[in-house]
Amino acid sequence: MALHDLLLRDALVFDGSGGPRRRADVAVSAGRIAAVGRLGDADAGAVIRLDGLALAPGFIDVHTHDDRLLLADPSMAPKLSQGVTSVVTGNCGISLAPLGSHPAVPPLDLVADGAEHRFYSFAAYFAALEERPPAVNAAALVGHTSLRAVAMSRLDRAADAAEIERMQALVQEALQAGALGVSTGTYYAPASAATADEVRAVCEPLRGSGGLIASHLRDEGERVLEAMTEAMTIANALGVRQVLSHHKVLGRANAGRSVETLALLDRARASADVCLDCYPYTASSTVLRRDAVRQAARTLVAWSKARPEASGRDLDELAREQGIGVDTLIDALQPAGAIYFSMDEADVQRILSHPQTMIGSDGLPHDTFPHPRLWGAFPRVLGHYARDRRLFSLETAVHKMTGLPAARFGLHDRGRIAPGQAADLVVFDPERILDAATFAEPRRPALGIERVYVNGTLAWHAGAGTGARAGRVLRRSAEPRPVSPA
Ligand code: ZN
Repeated sequence: MALHDLLLRDALVFDGSGGPRRRADVAVSAGRIAAVGRLGDADAGAVIRLDGLALAPGFIDVHTHDDRLLLADPSMAPKLSQGVTSVVTGNCGISLAPLGSHPAVPPLDLVADGAEHRFYSFAAYFAALEERPPAVNAAALVGHTSLRAVAMSRLDRAADAAEIERMQALVQEALQAGALGVSTGTYYAPASAATADEVRAVCEPLRGSGGLIASHLRDEGERVLEAMTEAMTIANALGVRQVLSHHKVLGRANAGRSVETLALLDRARASADVCLDCYPYTASSTVLRRDAVRQAARTLVAWSKARPEASGRDLDELAREQGIGVDTLIDALQPAGAIYFSMDEADVQRILSHPQTMIGSDGLPHDTFPHPRLWGAFPRVLGHYARDRRLFSLETAVHKMTGLPAARFGLHDRGRIAPGQAADLVVFDPERILDAATFAEPRRPALGIERVYVNGTLAWHAGAGTGARAGRVLRRSAEPRPVSPA
C-alpha cells in the first residue's frame, strides 16, 4: 500500500489537456503528482474527500504585472484566490529587473516604485524571490522598455548601435538566469520611439534560445493589422515563438475587427508559432492618456498621484462636477491610470474562443482602484463565459489556463494532472465558481475556489490564504525546443 503525502479522493478531474472530465483520485508525494485513477488501496498523511468537486491544474496567469507584488506582498491573494498558482511577470515591455535604480519613467512606474525592490539583474531578482518565496510560482520576461531605461542616454529616439549592444547583453543575462523571453510595449511612450529594427536587434539573443517574445502591439485600434504584421515580422525574422499580448480591438469604430485580426493570425500560423492571451472583459486599463479616453465610451480613474481622491470616479462626471474640460482634468490627474470601456463584447468572445488563446489577467496590483480583472479574470472565464454563456466547455476553459500556457511558455512540468507533474492544484465548485470583483467593488475575492495547492502545499482554503509560501522561480528549460506551429 502506497503512503502518499496527500490523497484527493473522488475528484471531478479536468486534467488540463482539454480532454473530457472524469472521476478519479489524485495522490501527491513530495510536491508532485504521484498517481491518478481509482486509488482504492492508497493511503496518505492527509486524505481529502472531494465528493465530485472539480480538480484542475493550478491556473497559470501568463500576463501579469506582479513583478514587485511577489516581493512586496508575497501572500499573492489576488491570484491565489482565483486558483492561480503561477504568474508570468514582466509583460508589456515593463519588468522590474534589470531596472536597478534607474528612474521608473511611466509606464515603468506600474511595477517599480520607490527605492525598494530594485534589481540590476535577473539573477538578483530570482535570488530575492528564492530567499523570500511568494505563495505562488513566478516566471519572468525581460521588458524592452526597462532595457531602454537602463541602456539609453535619451529615450525619445531609436537606440544606436552601442545601446543595442548593451541591451543585448542584458537580454543574454536574463535568459541565462532563466527568464522565459522578452516582452515589448511599443504602444507606450517612450518605447514607441523604438523602430521595428531596434526591437528585432535587441531580441537577437532569443534566436535559438528557446525563449519567446511577448508583444504588446504598437496599436490595438485603427492600425491593429499593421501593428500585428510589424510584431509578427520581428518574431519571424528571429525564428522565435510569439505571444500577442492581451489581444483586443479598441474603439467603437473598430468593433468587429477581431474577425480580421484572427484571420491574419491564422494565416501567419501556417508558418509561424504565434498565439495569444486575453482577459475576459470589455474594458481595458493602463495609464491615463487622451487618445485612450477619446476611444472609450466611458473612463474610470484607477489611480492618480496628483489627486488620489479621484480614484474610482467617472472621468466625465468628475470634469462636469469641477466645471473643467476633460483634457484639463486628464492633465491635472497625472501621473494617473484609468479603466477604459472601449471593446465590443462580440470581439472579446471571439478572441477568447480562439483555440490559441490563453487566459492572462493583465491585473495591475498597485492601482488604488484596480480593474476587476486583477481579482476576477480566471473565475469569470470558468463561471461566466464557460458555464453560464456556454462560450466553450469547462474542459476548454481549464485548458486555456493550464495545459495550453504551460506548453507555450515551456513550463513542461506544470499545467497537467498526470503523474510526475508538479502538484499545483485547484479544487473548485463548478456550480458556484464565479468572479465577484466588479468595477464598483474591484477587490472582492471570487466565489467557488475551495482549495489551492502550490507544489503540493495547501496555500488557499476556505476563503483565505494559509500563510504557506511554497512558490518557486520557474526558469526557462535549459533544453531549447524546436519552434513548431503545433
Ligand atoms: Zn500591455
